Amino acid sequence: MSDNQDLRALVRTIPDFPKPGIQFRDITTLLLDPWGLAQTVERLTALAPEGIDLVAGIEARGFIFGAAVAARLGVGLVLIRKDGKLPGATVAVDYALEYGSDRIAMHEDAVIPGQRVLLVDDLLATGGTALAAARLIRLAGGEVAAAAFVIDLPDLGGGEALAADGVPARSLMAFD
Ligand code: 5GP
Repeated sequence: MSDNQDLRALVRTIPDFPKPGIQFRDITTLLLDPWGLAQTVERLTALAPEGIDLVAGIEARGFIFGAAVAARLGVGLVLIRKDGKLPGATVAVDYALEYGSDRIAMHEDAVIPGQRVLLVDDLLATGGTALAAARLIRLAGGEVAAAAFVIDLPDLGGGEALAADGVPARSLMAFD
């Protein structure tokens, strides 16, 4: 089935969340469906290039898919979290949001220099979050081999932004 229409039908759209005018793509309905969850993990894993050493999951929904993909690939998982949540020594980067900025962090010893890392998150919009995550992985000496998402919002240009940064972005489905 092209563009994973079967899985796409399990994503719920909530209008005006978190603010008026935003169509929020809600993956909790996909998670609730046993077949949908298993297939999403299976197909996301298939997006991984050869030779991945580590998966990086981006807080919070990226943890869910990232952990499952890492287990299927037989590699470990590094958590990329909002700054201030991780207990050990961290590296952190700031990135711009629509209004203001945010800061994400990762344990500084989580990536072994030279490791090929697969970034995983639920959704790619502008790419700001994934680009910041890629910077963190490179700061720690890792190579960002690719990024895999359940959903892409191509109108927001995240795929192009990641490609310009040398990160091939792959996704299971797109929404306007
Ligand atoms: P970006 O940094 O690419 O602009 O935004 C992507 C981040 O925002 C991801 O971590 C994603 O979880 C979250 N996000 C933004 N919009 C949505 C949405 O409509 N649905 C979901 N599930 N996540 C979203």
